Amino acid sequence: MKDVIVVGGGPAGAALAYRLAARGLSVLLLEKSSVPRFKSCAGGITRKAVRELNFDLSPLIEEEISRFIFTANLEHPVEAATREAAVYTVSREKFDAFLLMKAASAGAEVITGAAVRKIERQGRAFLVRADSGRYRGKIIAGADGARSMVARSFGLEGARIHGTTLECHLAPPPGKEGRFRGTIHVDYGLLRQGYAWLFPKGSSLSLGAGALPGSPGEIRSALKKLQEALELERAELLLPARGWLLPFQPALRRLHDGAVLLLGDAAGLVDPFTGEGIYNALRSARLAEKVIVEEIRRPSPNLRRYSDLVRKEMGPELAAAWRLVRLLSGRASLYHQLLQRHPQFAAGFLELLSGECGYPQFLRRCLKLLLSEGLYLPQRR
Ligand SMILES: Cc1cc2nc3c(=O)[nH]c(=O)nc-3n(C[C@H](O)[C@H](O)[C@H](O)COP(=O)(O)OP(=O)(O)OC[C@H]3O[C@@H](n4cnc5c(N)ncnc54)[C@H](O)[C@@H]3O)c2cc1C
Repeated sequence: MKDVIVVGGGPAGAALAYRLAARGLSVLLLEKSSVPRFKSCAGGITRKAVRELNFDLSPLIEEEISRFIFTANLEHPVEAATREAAVYTVSREKFDAFLLMKAASAGAEVITGAAVRKIERQGRAFLVRADSGRYRGKIIAGADGARSMVARSFGLEGARIHGTTLECHLAPPPGKEGRFRGTIHVDYGLLRQGYAWLFPKGSSLSLGAGALPGSPGEIRSALKKLQEALELERAELLLPARGWLLPFQPALRRLHDGAVLLLGDAAGLVDPFTGEGIYNALRSARLAEKVIVEEIRRPSPNLRRYSDLVRKEMGPELAAAWRLVRLLSGRASLYHQLLQRHPQFAAGFLELLSGECGYPQFLRRCLKLLLSEGLYLPQRR
């Protein structure tokens, strides 16, 4: 019998397995895919996400990003730069495999090619049926991503909504590599509620678009337009465009059911303003560790405090991010005007990514500027 069975070996599951094993708990992590595995992702790891991990990530870093170019409908480019990188890019295949290796070296048992099919309660424990066999555990941690079977099995899907994304990988055109190095391009106007991006990852470029919500046709068209604007129509296609989901929870509900909890994408913790998911996946792993280590000593662990902790520690950030999304929904040009007219506001966005400024503060700055420019009228109650 394991103390904890972690379902899913992405950043959330691997980080939790590492933390719990390092605290002396017996941990089994079951990952559906063989590793390294592909994950649709631009591979941007913000400075605040790096701080959540106590590892030297330098061998994994493909690029240090200290320059952003924002456009609105491919026009009016605004540049924001920092002295220190605000974001690093990685290959998710290598990054996720590295985290799993860390979990295993801390003492977690990691089984790959082990899709979990069913989880049943058996008295105070759980029986997990996976492709690789059957296992018993006292606590189940669902870190199985956007289509979480753990969330479905325990009625924990809440009121989540899914954003739609499309992403492909291109080779930087020979001789033009330098143009893309260290720079992220973001266009806010091509999609009503979303953005198109280009993230450089060493020998490849992640070109993508995502919206909340958005039709596949609109998203594909935004991706194509950004590709043309960046003169990448003839760039070698390293990986064809693939779609995937971004799970969001507009209102944080219960993320536990007795001795079961959800983290990362399985809990719908993606940041609705930027689409960043790795930071909140790692953060939720840290909060889950805290509660599991306390509860594992009890005969019947109850992970209620985890739901409370996530609401308390991550709720205000996510709520302010949602306010920004609603404020700017369909009004990308407003946001872009602020970036254009106020270089300190553009710099504030990079502070947000690096964690030097939180969402409530960033939202206040945004509202203040919109009010001072007469671009926003607060609604009367
Ligand atoms: C196109 C795109 C671009 C993105 N870009 C960024 C970015 O630049 N920066 C950023 O921070 N975030 C980005 N995200 C979000 C980010 O990828 C996710 O938020 C992050 O991967 C969440 O980590 P996780 O561990 O919760 O889930 P995942 O990384 O999805 O891991 C879940 C794991 O569970 C496994 N699994 C699923 N079902 C089962 C099962 N039944 N049994 C066992 N294992 C199972 C899966 O194989 C997978 O390995 C992007 C997302 C998309 C779609």
